[in-house]
Amino acid sequence: MAVATDREFGLFIGGESAEPAAGDVRGLTEPATGEPLARAAMAGEVDVDRAVDAARAAIEGEWGRTPGTERARLLHALADAIVANRAELAELEARNVGKAISSVKAELHQAVENFRYYGSAIATIGGRANPIGGSLLFYSLKEPVGVAAQIVPWNYPLMMATWKLAPALAAGCSVVLKPDAQTPLTAIRLGEMATEVGFPPGAVNVVPGDGPTTGAYLVKHPGVDKVAFTGSTKTGGEIMRLASDPVKRVTLELGGKSPNLVFADADLDSALPSSAWSIFYAAGQSCEARSRMLVEKPLYDEAVATMAELAAGIKVGDPLDPETQMGSLVSQAHRERVHGFVERATDGEVVAGGALPDGAGAFYPPTVVATTNDTEIAQEEVFGPVVTVIPFDDEKDAIRIANDVRYGLMATVWTGDPARGHRIAARIKSGTVGINMPYTAFPGIPFGGYKQSGFGRELGLETLDLYLETKSVIVGTGARPINPFGL
Ligand code: NAD
Repeated sequence: MAVATDREFGLFIGGESAEPAAGDVRGLTEPATGEPLARAAMAGEVDVDRAVDAARAAIEGEWGRTPGTERARLLHALADAIVANRAELAELEARNVGKAISSVKAELHQAVENFRYYGSAIATIGGRANPIGGSLLFYSLKEPVGVAAQIVPWNYPLMMATWKLAPALAAGCSVVLKPDAQTPLTAIRLGEMATEVGFPPGAVNVVPGDGPTTGAYLVKHPGVDKVAFTGSTKTGGEIMRLASDPVKRVTLELGGKSPNLVFADADLDSALPSSAWSIFYAAGQSCEARSRMLVEKPLYDEAVATMAELAAGIKVGDPLDPETQMGSLVSQAHRERVHGFVERATDGEVVAGGALPDGAGAFYPPTVVATTNDTEIAQEEVFGPVVTVIPFDDEKDAIRIANDVRYGLMATVWTGDPARGHRIAARIKSGTVGINMPYTAFPGIPFGGYKQSGFGRELGLETLDLYLETKSVIVGTGARPINPFGL
């Protein structure tokens, strides 16, 4: 594979590559090797102003007049462009994030399907009509919210961008997308591809930059109508505050500490390897990573030992090797943070991993910690390849522990008793519950949080409504004049 990382990645504003006004161009490092990767422009306030102006002009111009059928065609064309450029996108993403290319390929597949799903879902956009009392007729119009600011994190730069872009564009909004400063490359390519397939200038703008400065300026911008944010719960709270003056529509996809409940009656040949996958894929840098494995007590010692064996067998290494199952973490700084959690976990026992490997790459081994639910490592989002294994007594205790955390994004239940699976699904406070399967996100299935994991949903039909206004039109149809004062 050879991808053109020697080019400079500009900002993407108004349908073309743009230089940053303040000349901020940074060298990005490849996390798995510590070597230079590419040079990328970072946006400042002037660039955000230009991007918001371009997005506004698009809504008031050609993009705002583009009918649903044409928007659908464009979304499908963008899906085709991702397919055509998949080798380049996969390599860029794997090298920029350090993530195993086998994972990235699955993410790319979902990115494609997501544009196709929303391309087709445009057909569902429509209002209602209703006669009221014989003399009034009500009908509703669905209109795009306007300019959407979309802020995404570094863990799935391409997939998160597509989760956000597809429903917004389907609804007819224009977008100013801000990727994380560390991982801008595939989002910039997506902006370029959108223009190549025919999206009018300004429909998609991409302005990578630092969160507390460029991101905050974008969120506060009076030209922005809606803010869709994916990131940490702490930053999510700050986004709500920033989006309050002037008031904007806000949706938040935030952190998680998702439970994975294993009952002694489960099919352990699936449950245990799947449990390992559901924390260690993407090196645990997933919002819904099942980082709390809750195990019924008679099975606990066996499950801890098996998880340690499975963790030790995971192929960690070069992200570009198709056999690699886990690449590096996103940066050395993030690795320090992850390792800090493990070092402080003195209440528990580290039964696999937990040691910093030698070498320049930001690698961290799959790590298993036997502990209880009241420890820092069980309660806080580590966001790395670290699973806590926690014992429970019975079904009631399992539900109590599963819910005893501030997050509520995802939960998985492994049991041989189907009725128990449904009972637990109804009682766990999380946006998604998986029963005897570890997968999470599919176009068409709403994904999002309860509690401190945020609000709003992605990937579902519901998401379209979050980018649409409902306008009620009421028409007088009575035979007599309307004269409420009797004048
Ligand atoms: P983060 O909150 O630090 O950053 C996320 C994004 O917000 C980045 O683009 C960053 O530049 C920007 N940002 C930071 N401060 C900002 C501010 N004051 N104003 C505006 N923008 C700001 O999160 P992170 O560490 O990059 O990402 C990991 C987090 O994202 C984890 O908590 C993870 O669970 C969460 N996440 C959630 C989902 C989901 O769908 N629920 C998906 C992926 C990741």
